[in-house]
Amino acid sequence: MNNETIYNIIGIGIGPFNLGLAALSDPIPELKTLFLDQRDGFDWHPGLMIDHVTLQTPFLCDCVSMADPTSPLSLLNYLKETGRLYKFFIRESFFIPRKEYNRYCQWVIQQLPQCRFSTQVVDITYEDGLYLVTTIHTKTKETTVFKTERLILGTGTQPNIPSFIPKDDARIMHTSHYLYRKEELLTEGKKIAIIGSGQSAAEVFYDLLQNRNETTELGWYSRPDRFFPMEYSKLTLELTSPDYVEYFYNRTETAKKAILSKQQSQFKGINYDLINDIYDFIYDLNIDNADPRLRIIPNSQLNRVEINDPYLMNLEFTQLEQEVPYEQEADYLILGTGYRYHEPSFLQNIQSRIKRDSSGLFDVNRNYSIDHNGGEIYVLHAEVHTHSYISTDLGMAAYRNSYIINDILGREHYKIEKKIAFQDFDVEQYAELPTVKI
Ligand SMILES: Cc1cc2nc3c(=O)[nH]c(=O)nc-3n(C[C@H](O)[C@H](O)[C@H](O)COP(=O)(O)OP(=O)(O)OC[C@H]3O[C@@H](n4cnc5c(N)ncnc54)[C@H](O)[C@@H]3O)c2cc1C
Repeated sequence: MNNETIYNIIGIGIGPFNLGLAALSDPIPELKTLFLDQRDGFDWHPGLMIDHVTLQTPFLCDCVSMADPTSPLSLLNYLKETGRLYKFFIRESFFIPRKEYNRYCQWVIQQLPQCRFSTQVVDITYEDGLYLVTTIHTKTKETTVFKTERLILGTGTQPNIPSFIPKDDARIMHTSHYLYRKEELLTEGKKIAIIGSGQSAAEVFYDLLQNRNETTELGWYSRPDRFFPMEYSKLTLELTSPDYVEYFYNRTETAKKAILSKQQSQFKGINYDLINDIYDFIYDLNIDNADPRLRIIPNSQLNRVEINDPYLMNLEFTQLEQEVPYEQEADYLILGTGYRYHEPSFLQNIQSRIKRDSSGLFDVNRNYSIDHNGGEIYVLHAEVHTHSYISTDLGMAAYRNSYIINDILGREHYKIEKKIAFQDFDVEQYAELPTVKI
């Protein structure tokens, strides 16, 4: 079936980033938009929706507030509409539960009929100045072709599983599937190994620690030399700013790679309070010097997993500083090995329209477009290598969406802050002046 409407924008994927774009473009009459997602409805990282976990970013990272604090689609308005604003006020925390953020996003979607689910994009071609987006309805299997002037790719990232991990062994899982398997993990007498030094690995470890039965044995292994916290000091948080995107974008490809490799603790790592909660919980278990029945080993690289079905798996590690190999047994292996961007296969027939850098990655323009004309195909969350780790941050999503919307409209519809940091990242302005001693 052909849909004859010509859209100005089709957004593919309705995660938080494209949802923000849908919300911010909604009040602009000249933009005819459509947003498509293959899932049956919005459900934010359901396999990790552990009780009591909160967002790592302040609630103002909702779909709209940082672009338009007066929008009726703000989190504060959601709380008002659902009778929770006073409770939120009394709770006095910027960091809302992830469950509440999920409900909020679902509430936003209810008000945006341009968001369609159960619709998978399978192919895109380009004809006569328009992109033809072929979709399959995941339930009816009906095929529809939509026409649009521009695409916004918001297909997110996928669980990263190292290539040496055996495939199709049900005892090995990524943290993104944790809650689907939790009950099984907590059956009597299981040995569970968790790999990873990030927030997801820590959340899973802590949840198992609190819920395990007396016979569960837990092991937590991480490659870095310590379980380090995500950095939240305020001058470092200034790296999550429009100024920093501008600064980072203008560095060379080589310089960008070097900068990103130094920024582990800013964007990776574990919430500081969670590290302390884990420690305090173990401290309690250890009262009277009782054995807390767990192993926590940093500096450990997992090299190989030996499957001895139906027996325990053998995990082969190296302690990197000691250069000592060692082995651990496990019934279950949980991989907190992060997420990676994979280019969607539906781009195959429009590859010639896409710019590439020397590594073959998207050569993303400053305005977040990746096409040769610089304003037809935009990316959300696929530009860490060009725009810095900020690309993954909910707090900067409204900035990026404002930038894209303004670019498409050719005017500043949403006011964009240029200089918010107290520090200067770029010293070019001083290089032109005579040296002043401070
Ligand atoms: C557990 C967890 C907690 C996080 N917490 C925070 C936080 O507190 N603060 C923060 O700043 N960041 C956080 N992040 C990082 C980031 O904000 C999230 O990963 C966020 O979900 C990214 O949004 P997205 O829109 O890029 O993609 P996603 O949420 O992954 O959504 C992508 C969507 O694209 C759809 N899709 C893919 N292919 C197709 C196709 N062919 N056709 C149609 N639809 C398609 C998928 O179905 C999916 O719904 C967290 C990440 C995780 C994993």
